[in-house]
Parts: sequence; C-alpha cells; structure tokens
Amino acid sequence: MIIINNHMYSRLFNNVRKIIPKISETELIALKSGGVSIDRDIFSGKINYDKLKRNVLYEQNENNMLEKTKDILRKYGDSNVYPSNNINNIMNNLAEKGFLGMIIDKKYEGNRLPISTQSKILTMMASYNPSIAVVTMVPNSLGPGELLQHYGTETQKNNYLPKLASGELIPCFGLTGPNNGSDATGNIDVGILKSTDGIKCNYNRYIEIELNKRYITLAPIADIIGIAFNLKDPDNLLKQGTSGISLALIDKNHPGLIKETYHNPNNAGFPNGTLKGKIRIDLEQIIGGEKMAGNGWKMLMECLAVGRGVSLPASANGTSKAITYGIFNYIKNREQFKIPIGNMQGVREKFLEMFYNTWVIQASVNFTSHILDSGAVPSVLTAIMKQQTTERARKVLLNGMDIYAGGAICIGPNNFFTKFYNSSPIGITVEGSNTLTRSLIIFGQGLNKSHPYIYSIFDAIQTNDLNKFKKEFNSMVLFCTKLYISNIINKFSINNNNNTNIRLENLIKKYANLVNFVALMGGKIKSEQMISGNMADILSNIYLAQSVIWYHNNNTGLPVEIRDYCIDKLCNEAEIKLNLVINNYPNNNYPNNIIKMLLKPTQCKIKYDNFRNENMIFNTINNNENIIKLLKADIFYENNIIQDLETLSRLDKNKRTDLYNKLYNKIISVSEYKI
Ligand SMILES: Cc1cc2nc3c(=O)[nH]c(=O)nc-3n(C[C@H](O)[C@H](O)[C@H](O)COP(=O)(O)OP(=O)(O)OC[C@H]3O[C@@H](n4cnc5c(N)ncnc54)[C@H](O)[C@@H]3O)c2cc1C
Repeated sequence: MIIINNHMYSRLFNNVRKIIPKISETELIALKSGGVSIDRDIFSGKINYDKLKRNVLYEQNENNMLEKTKDILRKYGDSNVYPSNNINNIMNNLAEKGFLGMIIDKKYEGNRLPISTQSKILTMMASYNPSIAVVTMVPNSLGPGELLQHYGTETQKNNYLPKLASGELIPCFGLTGPNNGSDATGNIDVGILKSTDGIKCNYNRYIEIELNKRYITLAPIADIIGIAFNLKDPDNLLKQGTSGISLALIDKNHPGLIKETYHNPNNAGFPNGTLKGKIRIDLEQIIGGEKMAGNGWKMLMECLAVGRGVSLPASANGTSKAITYGIFNYIKNREQFKIPIGNMQGVREKFLEMFYNTWVIQASVNFTSHILDSGAVPSVLTAIMKQQTTERARKVLLNGMDIYAGGAICIGPNNFFTKFYNSSPIGITVEGSNTLTRSLIIFGQGLNKSHPYIYSIFDAIQTNDLNKFKKEFNSMVLFCTKLYISNIINKFSINNNNNTNIRLENLIKKYANLVNFVALMGGKIKSEQMISGNMADILSNIYLAQSVIWYHNNNTGLPVEIRDYCIDKLCNEAEIKLNLVINNYPNNNYPNNIIKMLLKPTQCKIKYDNFRNENMIFNTINNNENIIKLLKADIFYENNIIQDLETLSRLDKNKRTDLYNKLYNKIISVSEYKI
C-alpha cells in the first residue's frame, strides 16, 4: 500500500498548482455559470438512467399557441420580414398573440411558457419562415427581457417587462463590436464614470460611453437597447458594485445614440444593424442598478447557460425536419433513368444521412427541453446543443440540396432551400461561434464543470485548502484507477459490441477514462484545440445518443432499429475520434510516453456501416407511419412546395392520373424569368 505523508501531499499540491491552466476572471465566471445534468454521469463513466425518465409537464396553452403560430405564418407567408414596411405590424401581431413575452412571468404581464412549448413554436416558425423565427426568438433569448427578469430592480421590472411583453418596446442587445467578436469582452466599448463637477463621491455621476456595436439583431427597429461595456472608475466614484463589464438599458432616442445603418446577413431577411455614438447614461440605467455594476459578464453567462439550448437548436430542428420531410417525398416521385431517384443507392445514402442527423436533432431538442423544464441549467449540454444542432442541420441542408439539385439552386417558389441556405450560417456564427464553442468551450468547460472531481481539486488549490485537496485527490485517484481497470477488464471480457446498448456503455467508460488522461495535459489543453475539439465531439455524440434513447422511450410505436441505427452512427463517429485522440496524445517525453502506452489498450475496435442494414433502414422509414408522423410534427408547410410533395406521395404513382401528372410537373418546374 502506498502511504502518502503530508509533505508529499504538499509537494503534489504545488505540482498540481503548476499544471492547472491559468484562468482569467472572465473564464472563471464562465466556468462557474450554470449547472450540470447528465453530463456529470458521462464524465463519471456511467449513466443513471432514472434521470432520463419523463416527468409529465402538461401545458394547457401549448395547442393554443401552436394554432396561433400557424395563424401568424398563414398571415405573413414565407417572405422576409426586413427590410419591409410591414415589420411593425408583424412585431405588433407577434406581441398581441403572446410571442414576445414567452420568458416573461405572468406577474409582469408576460406569457411565460415551458421551454418545450417555446421550442415547438420556434421549430414551427423556423420550418416555414426563418426570418419570423429570428424576430421572435431574440426578445425571448439573451437580452433585456431575460436580464431584467433575473437581475433588474423592481422599478426596472415594473417599468419595462410589461411593455416588452405587449410589444410596446422592441428590445435588442448589443455586446459585439468590430474589435470584440468571439473575445466578447476583450476590446469592448469603454464607459468612464465621471461626475459633473469633478468632486469625488458627489451625486451628479454619469457614465460616458463611446459606443461602436455591430451585428446587433433587431437594432434597426429596437425601442429599448441593452448594451454591454467595460465600466472604468478612475476617480473611485462608485459607491456600490465594481468596475468591469456592466450592462445598461438605453432608449432609442437617447441623446448621442446613432442608429442609422443596417447589415444584410445573407439576405436572411431580419433586422440587424449598428449602434454607435458618444452617450452619457445615469447609473440607474445599469440593469440591477449601481450594485450590479461590474457583474455584466456573470449575468450574461448565467443567462446564456439556458438560452443557448433553446432558440438556435429549435431553428436547426425546424429547418432539418422541413427539408428532410420534403426530400423524403421528393425522392419517391422524382424519376431519372425511368426509376424514382430514391431507388438509387447514391441518393439513398444522402437521404439516410439527412434522416439520421434530423432524428438526432429532434431527439436532442426534445430531451434538452425536458431537462431545462425540470429546472436544470446545464451549461455544457446547452453549448453542445447549440454547436451540434446547427452544425448537423447544415449537413442536412447540403445533402438535401444535392438531391433537389437544380431545383435547389435556382431561386423561385419551388425552391424551399434558399431561405434555409441563407439563414443556416447565422446559427453557426452567433451566440458563440461554433469553431470556438467546439474547440474551447465544450470540453474545457466540461472538464472543469462536469467532471466529478476536477473542479473540487481546482477549488481546493484556488482557496489554498490542503485538507480538501487531500480528500478530493484521493477520491480522484481511486475513481481513475477503478475506471481504468474496468476498461482493461472490458477489453478481455467477451462482451457483445454488436449490442448497441453495451457498445454505448463501453464508449462512455472509455471516454471517461480518456478524459482523466487528457486532464493530465493541464493548461496545454487550451492550446491543443485539436485534442479538445475531438474530445468535445465524443462528449457531444454520447449526449446525443442518450437523447435518442430518451426520445425512443417517450414515443410509442417506434421501431428499435431506428434507435439503434442512430446510436450506432453516433458511436461510429465517436469511436474514430477517441482513437484519434489516443494516437495524438503527446508522447514526446516522460511520463507522456508511458501514458500513451497505457491508453493504447483502451482504443476502440472500429465498426463499419453495413450497407444491407442501410437499405433495410430506408425501407423501415418508408413503411412506418409513426416515424413519418414524428418527422413532420411541429413543422408548417401549408400551401407550399413541401405540401405539394406530400400530396403527390399520397397519389397512386402507377396510375399516372392527370392529377398526378399535373402535380408532378408542378413540383419539378423551376421559375423562369424574362430576359
Ligand atoms: C447575423 C448576426 C447576428 C448577430 N446578433 C448579435 C446580437 O444581437 N448581439 C450581439 O452582441 N452580437 C451579435 N452577433 C455577433 C456574434 O455573436 C459574433 O459575430 C460572434 O461572436 C463572432 O464574432 P466575429 O464574427 O467577429 O468572429 P471572430 O471572433 O473574428 O472569429 C473568427 C473565427 O475564429 C474563431 N475563433 C475565435 N476565437 C477562437 C478561439 N479562442 N478558439 C478557436 N476558435 C476561435 C471563431 O469561432 C470564428 O470561426 C451577431 C452576428 C451575426 C453575424
């Protein structure tokens, strides 16, 4: 037995202190924001399936709100909402029907809805008119409404929240500028606290801010503007709060504010623009009042912990479902070489990839809404959702375009791709650009937040608590040893890797084990983004696989083959990446070369797709009504080409009736314009 005495613990304490990454205040706040959920289980190597059970959340208002969503879509069609003279009417109508107050409490005259209902509404809007989805989601995501609700003073809440819910005030939130993009607070606009007569601590204090914001969604039509700035207090005038990132509200007519230009993000058709000018604001304009000065980054991060998991994933869901359902009907009817193109394996392969990604997106959107509705605020899971769903939706889109071919490229009413093609990169770029989220945030935050011991050890070091360090360190060593041994035993046991459940369980164990070794890289992980990005992908796929299980268990009549098909694909992707990380584990010195040797036996045996199974799955999708019912749930396609495609599929293709031929010719036609 190894006996470690106090002296050795102290040395260890100092050595660990050296390898843990230097963490800035901004990063520390981001790290502490939000909570954990099933991600903790993944890092522990074993899932507690009880957590996946559904607690029934009955929302009486849901059907009513979905009917109202359809009314809005019927009324405004699928045209871009901006630039347009109709934008004010649209916003008023959205507000009247309760869509602008979905996160505002009833107490403040809002229409607070469960996350699952909000998600369905946004999915439906995004499936038909992405620009309406954007103008609806922004007031309901990170911005004045959410910030006021959590941190506003009672006066601010009473003053603004009812007006936000009723649409009297349209909000926007400005953080980004030309010099602060992904590094949101790095070179952010500065606000200097001054006083009119220059005397310290007098009452005539104001903040002077040089604003230069860009990319701000809804800015061109906003009445109330949230801004983030770095508050400096050179004369020590602050009585409460601190200097640092602060958030404030300004009126659209605020003296000095220049709000006169807009951007055109890819013709996606929603308002987005700039905020400039030299302005003076009062301290009461800080959200939460003077005491909240300097807390802005914490406030933003805490709100983002939930927000990231709802709006953009719902958009990705709506887009993917609409496209996949459209293409499902298209490939059954469109013929080339005298056969439906769906009979060609090349097309089928692409369709199956679309179906797989769409199924994973819809399962994870539903699962995550369920987790968030239970009150959890899992920041790592919501970051995964933002990155994975928008990225996978882009794959669905590109495959769908390849299949719809010329019709997807030429603009006109039959092209249901252009609107999605224009809006898809926006979800990828906003709320933490995907490359940054994948390479830095998901695994970095997961390691510190979701891991059962690392944060406690880190905290013990930060607070110089040797006793806590001893306790947590011992637990971690025991945990790591057990996990490693269980992986080695697994390797030699005859367990059935063809069983999807066992395969996933093994993957989780291998991942949790690998995490412990990657953690030994310490601060280097921050720059070794290829390792961290691939570790993020494995974690994401494991979470998505759990979503697929949950979704399967919570919907009746689904064939188990579909569940296993998606999980196997997620495992295939993850296992390759797990081996990739082990192969690239740095081994240039001792003890890394020993670590790499230890890791070798934990590599995965790669399994390859079975083409026969792919064809079987295609037939299962074709013949199971429950699958199609879920695929088209919560999307809207009245009177558009997707509805024509559905109608065509219902007609008997072999009879070639006049109606069939007429509709067929309609769906294959492409808009023509006079030269
Ligand atoms: C249409 C649209 C709407 C928007 N709406 C708003 C809004 O309402 N309010 C608001 O405040 N902002 C808004 N934004 C800003 C948006 O959130 C930022 O654009 C985003 O943070 C990226 O900034 P950037 O475009 O300057 O890219 P950059 O920060 O210059 O990044 C360039 C590339 O480098 C990557 N990268 C950067 N740092 C790292 C890193 N450390 N590791 C790995 N990769 C990294 C990024 O992922 C990206 O791929 C919007 C932007 C757009 C385009």
